[in-house]
Amino acid sequence: MGRKVKVICPYCGVGCGFYISVDDYGNPVGIEHMPEHPVNRGKLCPKGRSALDVLRAPDRLTKPLKRTESGEFKEISWSDAIREVAENLNNVRKEYGPQAVGFLASARVFNEENYAMQKLARVFGTNNIDHCARLCHAPSLAGLSATVGAGAMTAPFEDIAASNFILIWGYNPAETHPILMGQYILKAKEKGAKIAVVDTRCTRTAWHADYFIPIKPGTDLAVIYAMINVIIQEKLYDEKFVKERVERFDDLARFVSKYTPEYAESVSGAPAHLIRQVAREFAKAGKASICWCMGITQHTKGTNNVIGLATLAAICGYYGKEGCAVAPVRGQNNVQGACDMGALPVFLPGYARVIDAEKRKKVASAWGLDDLPAEPGYTVIEMSYAAEQGKLKAMYIMGENPLISDANANHVRKALEHLDFLVVQDIFLTETAQLADIVLPSACWAEKEGSFTNTERRVQWSFKAVEPPGEAKPDWVIITEIAKALGLERFFPYTRVEDITAEINKVVPQYAGITAERLKNSIGGILWPCPSPDHPGTARLHVEKFATPSGKFNTQTPEYTDPAEKPDEQYPLILTTFRYVGQYHTATMTHRSVHLRKRWPEPVAEIHPETARKYGVRDGGLIKIITRRGEYTCRVKVTNLIAKDVVAVPWHFGANVLTNDALDPVAKIPETKVCACKVVPV
Ligand code: SF4
Repeated sequence: MGRKVKVICPYCGVGCGFYISVDDYGNPVGIEHMPEHPVNRGKLCPKGRSALDVLRAPDRLTKPLKRTESGEFKEISWSDAIREVAENLNNVRKEYGPQAVGFLASARVFNEENYAMQKLARVFGTNNIDHCARLCHAPSLAGLSATVGAGAMTAPFEDIAASNFILIWGYNPAETHPILMGQYILKAKEKGAKIAVVDTRCTRTAWHADYFIPIKPGTDLAVIYAMINVIIQEKLYDEKFVKERVERFDDLARFVSKYTPEYAESVSGAPAHLIRQVAREFAKAGKASICWCMGITQHTKGTNNVIGLATLAAICGYYGKEGCAVAPVRGQNNVQGACDMGALPVFLPGYARVIDAEKRKKVASAWGLDDLPAEPGYTVIEMSYAAEQGKLKAMYIMGENPLISDANANHVRKALEHLDFLVVQDIFLTETAQLADIVLPSACWAEKEGSFTNTERRVQWSFKAVEPPGEAKPDWVIITEIAKALGLERFFPYTRVEDITAEINKVVPQYAGITAERLKNSIGGILWPCPSPDHPGTARLHVEKFATPSGKFNTQTPEYTDPAEKPDEQYPLILTTFRYVGQYHTATMTHRSVHLRKRWPEPVAEIHPETARKYGVRDGGLIKIITRRGEYTCRVKVTNLIAKDVVAVPWHFGANVLTNDALDPVAKIPETKVCACKVVPV
């Protein structure tokens, strides 16, 4: 007979639902579509369709491992592993204090597990807790919080489908979020919506666009301001909305007057006439959405870019109404949830700032304490530098692979090797886990249950379909066992994952009414904020007012400035990065799928024909890409879909040895999207 189990896709932030068919022996035998799911309506992309491959992968971690003096790993018991982790973390705390320990949570695991990890860090005594949102949408959180008061997508996917105009900036949803592209963006186009794409490469998304504006990497803000300038100069803005809901509009008008389309063209290469035309059509559309991703955020000016896009939407009144979404589309399936749970060094659960004594003490009181650490912790990249400088002595990493995901990865390797103690908890022996002193095997998504929050703020329950391999355990169970061994058992009285969900309901205001019971009985879940168990959830934010202290859009005007590293004689080209539809993040899971690995087996860089000729590069050959931080060899495709003097490389397989870890001063995201490089044929 078998059974079918309701799960949420383990890959991207779209949050598609499907069923896993399980036979009478407990084996996962296939995927069944879920046409009743409100997001994907039964559709899946290549990654979703291959999700079961991870469950069957032969090299899953099944037992705890300990590094021996010879450098080899040997299997040890769970009790020995937990004891060793606790002893080492306690020793570091005793000798150097809790600030010498760093914790990384994960956008790959459930809300309950992120909540448990950040709680462990804080009751241990530090705010050194972060996760990979730092590397993707930290500027979206910072830029939207500063302007509209909430760092989340403002409306559900349905509003994108109802738009008359969709502006897609630094974002290639055809490859990164195929279901959003097919089910919402292209549905809007079928109904007559116009699409404009602004990007450094002519992507598969751009092929569907009515307008494609090519720009040089890192010059986005100059073009955004030029569009705002055109809309204000030509009086195309929403006068009523601006008067009632936007602060300091006159200052904005004065500020952007110098950002003419001709100036923006001189900086970015974007044709001035296209900037004008897209600005006009966007403003006149009546209902429009803006979607962005890493092309906007992975810059030293990522926060400023987000402020610019939020402002572009504000002057046109595109908040809080049908057909209008301001959409930072999250990469991993639980980036939104990991942030909501407070797996961040400046925010406690529910975005209570650690420096806000009143809110901090409220969370402390819910945990049975008088207070919690008040000093903001290290971010992801700061942890590497702190380790190198000897300020950070130990790290506990759950479900992240910084050796591949972080900018300037050679530096990350040196930093991790410099630690006194590293524990990595994962489903495979990742590149990062290979450096660990102790490796803890965890259950993956369909081998446990809990809630994920997609990019719309949609919280959904994913059920357990199969048993974990060997002795692997759910992440929340491992964290709870470590907490007990650290002497922190009174903070971790959990025996079921639902115990943590119930605590989240009490501590995270946005999730107050999102109980495990409601989620389990629903298909499609509940969108936060949901203040009580009888509340239906909130699809659209900022309907009457913004979430700022004044209730109005908080206009800000940071100047455009160039990227941190520009081409020069030694490194005459610009390097940027991109992703494949069939590979995911550090490829830890997708590269173990036979189907995906066969179709997307290796990184292939892209280079313009004229640039290729100039440097003797041949289509299909191998090139070495060299930056100030490292070298990377891969195959190359010569294509005119990329600008001259730009090299683009997929980052899944290790290209971050090249990228720049210069940080955005607000969001502390590294500038992964642009640096100077040179190429030589191999
Ligand atoms: Fe999974 Fe995202 Fe593909 Fe949906 S679009 S199937 S959530 S990877």
